[in-house]
Amino acid sequence: MRKAVFPGSFDPITLGHVDIITRALPLFDEIVIAIGINAEKNYMFNAEERMRFIQNTFSEEKKISVEVYKTLTVDYCKEINADFILRGLRNPADFEFEKAIAQTNRKLSGIETVFLLTSAETSYISSSIVRDILKNGGDASKFVPNSVASKI
Ligand code: ADP
Repeated sequence: MRKAVFPGSFDPITLGHVDIITRALPLFDEIVIAIGINAEKNYMFNAEERMRFIQNTFSEEKKISVEVYKTLTVDYCKEINADFILRGLRNPADFEFEKAIAQTNRKLSGIETVFLLTSAETSYISSSIVRDILKNGGDASKFVPNSVASKI
């Protein structure tokens, strides 16, 4: 069974994440969307809110589950028997950052990272820009799924 973990902050989930997840569905039997908790990061939405946004977005999709994890990503993958990590690539900066992490993860665990290239329509979308819009009282509904847009 091909099981992938899609790790991220998802603070909040955007249409960019939705694009990557939807396009990865035919590639895997199961995708665990894993919300990382890093004690040093300040999040706009707490873990429960982030989880609910994702669950509501994919409530119809049987292959998808949503979890929170606090350990090293590769340790979490081992714990739940996932052989793949899924990540999205938007630009050269993402590539440089992701390359080092993917190579480290493979050295540590043998787990392969599968990258999907962002779609043209969503390549500019990021959670940090969505948070900036929200902090300044703007309308971010064009960049997030309906389940989030209706709550922010
Ligand atoms: P992290 O803090 O781990 O980067 P994010 O929630 O920001 O968590 O991103 C999770 C994953 O989603 C990353 O692989 C990131 O590159 C990808 N991603 C985010 N936005 C987009 C987008 N617009 N198009 C494609 N991939 C994206």
